[in-house]
Order: sequence, then C-alpha cells, then structure tokens
Amino acid sequence: MEINHVQVWNECLSIIKSDISEKSFNTWFIPIKPVKLENKVLTIQVPSKMSYEWLEDKYIRQLKKAILGVLGSKGRLEYKLPVKNERNQSNKKVDRTINPFAIPGLKKIRIDSNLNANYLFSNYIQGDCNKMARSAALAVAKKPGGTSFNPMIIYGGVGLGKTHLAHAIGNEIKTRFPNHNIIYITPEDFTNQIVKAIKDNNIEDFIRFHRNVDTIIIDDIQFLSGRKKSLEILFNIFNEFHQNGKQIILTSDRQPKDLEGMEERLISRFKWGLITDLTPPEFETRMAIIDEKLSNEELEFPYAVKEYICYNITNNIRELEGVCTSIIAQATLSERDVNIELAKEVIQKFVSFNNKKISIENIKNVVASHYKLDVELLNSTSRKREIVMARQISMYLAREYTKHSYGRIGAYFGGKDHSTVMYSIKSVKNMLDVDKQFSEVVNNLEKEVQFTLKG
Ligand code: ADP
Ligand code: MG
Repeated sequence: MEINHVQVWNECLSIIKSDISEKSFNTWFIPIKPVKLENKVLTIQVPSKMSYEWLEDKYIRQLKKAILGVLGSKGRLEYKLPVKNERNQSNKKVDRTINPFAIPGLKKIRIDSNLNANYLFSNYIQGDCNKMARSAALAVAKKPGGTSFNPMIIYGGVGLGKTHLAHAIGNEIKTRFPNHNIIYITPEDFTNQIVKAIKDNNIEDFIRFHRNVDTIIIDDIQFLSGRKKSLEILFNIFNEFHQNGKQIILTSDRQPKDLEGMEERLISRFKWGLITDLTPPEFETRMAIIDEKLSNEELEFPYAVKEYICYNITNNIRELEGVCTSIIAQATLSERDVNIELAKEVIQKFVSFNNKKISIENIKNVVASHYKLDVELLNSTSRKREIVMARQISMYLAREYTKHSYGRIGAYFGGKDHSTVMYSIKSVKNMLDVDKQFSEVVNNLEKEVQFTLKG
C-alpha cells in the first residue's frame, strides 16, 4: 500500500521529536499540517510566513534529516503558506508554495532590531502633551499592522519624546510578539545602506531584506528630504509594507505637509495613517518626568529645586534631563549640596552650552586630565594602553559632540587617517556595550566635557 502524506509526516515528526526540545517541538511542529505527497515531495502547511522562516532558519537540518530518512534521498519538502492579509477582503487566497531544498538561499535573515531597551512605555510619562500619541502608539504596539494607524507618524519639536516613543512601540512589540521582525533605523543609516547597495550592485538584496521585516521604524524622516534615491526606495518599501499589512512608524520634527524636499506622492501616502503630535509638557508632566529620571539615582533633589528646574526649562525634555544630570554630576564631583543656587548655576551654563559648540580641544583637555596625561600624547602614535584608550575615547567624544567628519577628527589627533578614527570609535562603542565600568568612565567624561565649557 502506498504510504500517504499523513503517515510520512508522522514518521518525520517522530524523528524530529527526538532531536529537539519538547517546547520547540510543540511550538513549531505541532501546528504544521501535512497536505500532500507527490513524487516524493511532501507538502506541509505552515501557519504563517513567520513560522516558515523560523523553521528554515532553525530547523532545516532536522527537517532534512527526517525527510531524507523517511522518503529516501529523493525526498523533498515544500511549504504551503497562507497568503496573509486578512484585512484585504479579496478572496483570492492564492497558495504560495516554497521549496526550501530547491532554493537553499532562502533563509530568514536574522535582524538586529537596533532598539534602545531603555525606552519603554513604562517610563514614558503620560501628560496632556502626549496623551493621544501615547495611546495610539500603544494601540499600534498591541496590534502592529492591524490598526488603521498605518503609517503612524509622530511629529514634534526637538527633545519632546519622539524617539523614546518610537522605541517604546518597538520594545513593546518585541515583548508581545517575540518572532516579529522589527527594525529601527535612522535616515543616515537608511541612506548609507542604500548607497552601499547601489555601489555593490545589490539593491535587490536591500529590498529583499525588507521583505523579512514586519515593522519598520524610521526616526526623523525630515533628514531624508532631498535624498532622491532614498525616497524612491522608501516609497517602494512603503507600498509593500502597506499592501502586506505590515506596520510603518515614522517620526518627524514637523508636520508631513511641511516636509520640504519630500516627494508629494510619499506625503500623500503618509495621510493614509495617523499623524499625531507631541507638544511641550505641562508643568506637572515636567515634574513627573524629573521624578521618573531621578528614581534611578542615589541623589535626591529637594522639591524646591525640582520646581525651580521645571519653571525654567519648559519646552525640551532632553534639556530637562540634561540639567538634572549636570546637577548630579556637579554635586557628586564637587561634593556640593543640591540646592537652588546650584540649579541656577547649572541652568545658566546649560543654556549657554546649548548655544555653544564643544570643541575637540576642549574634549582632549578633559580626557587627558582625567588620565593624567600630557595632551600632546593624544596626538602621538604611542601604542601604550592608557594613551590608546584616552585617544580613542577623545575621538569618540569628538564624533558625538562635534559635527566633524572622521577625517577631520583625525587631523586633530596628529594627522590620523579616516579609517583609524572610525576604528577607534567603533572600539569604544563595542566596549561601551560590554564593559560597565568603562561606560561609567566615559559617561563621567561626557558630563565633564559639558560642564567645563566656560560660560
Ligand atoms: P526627540 O526624539 O523628540 O528629540 P527624545 O525621544 O530623544 O526626543 O526625548 C528626549 C529625552 O526626553 C529622552 O531621554 C527621553 O527619554 C525623555 N522623554 C521624552 N518624553 C518623555 C516622557 N513623556 N517621559 C519620560 N521621558 C521622556
Ligand atoms: Mg529623536
């Protein structure tokens, strides 16, 4: 008697079962339904594209072993995917069949979301200034691609919480849907990737990559203005995402209609979704935000000091935070009390700092004096550990705080070349990720760089 697809699949399952954990087996293999067996090709129905990709990525070896074991060396496997788009009412539910053995390259790309894990809903204080945006963001996070808020566009002035909210959505989606592929990208990276793809002649790969993405977040889209190629590709990605019920989240420092140098057709697409704004926080919200930020600190601020800060810094939350951080730095470094006098001083300096440029010389001085080194050594080619470290940190801070190019920064360090600077900065970033102590040192240096600015 001919063996049928159900029997074949059951045999495969018993082989796979002994190869992987029970939990994985139940999650990934139980929901699969065998569909047919023809000429040693077994077709299985998987519940979603996601599960197909996961199987391909994680279990291709076990699958292959099972299929070949049961059907012999001519055995093949094909997947049947439901063409999803429940919201698209058309009933042409075409089956898409993919043969993983025939197309071995079709592996799911592992996507690094690039999300900042500290930006969450739980520490995003709600106020009148952000009520609408926050609740829409939460709705999107609960049902990415499944609300009418697609695209979701958050706009608002500098330091009002766009980036924080965008990451909060991403992090929430990740928590709720661990297999959901989500990426956060800045216009700069987006453009760089496109430039590179064009150069390497694989723009197709770039677009294919985005087919693996379920939610895309692009922060500060105003920076894409005038970048023709990037906008054209964004337009394509946008259409594909929208058609496939995938979520698009954008932030901008102005209303879409005011985005100059943006393509008209793209702006009109933006209107399909929800455009919501963030306004400067009211006094109470500012107080609540300060409390939230200080809840992680050892130091307590007297109420009057918090009040003083909130009266004086009214329309930029980043500045509000910056002032608190500087007060903490100053209080700790110089062992001073946190009082109104200190707050006043800091705010004055802070405000002038914001209108002032930090110079590379200034950074070098701060770093050299921290390491008790002669500033000149930063320009040398010495490979002594401490000097290298000080030099690399200085370059990193220079890149963060000045707008200089790598090449130009190199010039300030005794004529190092562009790639040395890039490498140095990368090493610092890598260290920051893994070494807590190091990151504290750099943090303190940053505070000092800001503070030693003569007002
Ligand atoms: P934008 O992207 O609009 O310039 P950010 O999202 O970078 O602003 O916010 C600036 C800083 O203010 C961040 O550190 C962020 O955590 C903080 N912030 C903004 N809004 C809130 C809020 N509602 N609650 C708590 N912190 C906030
Ligand atoms: Mg931002």
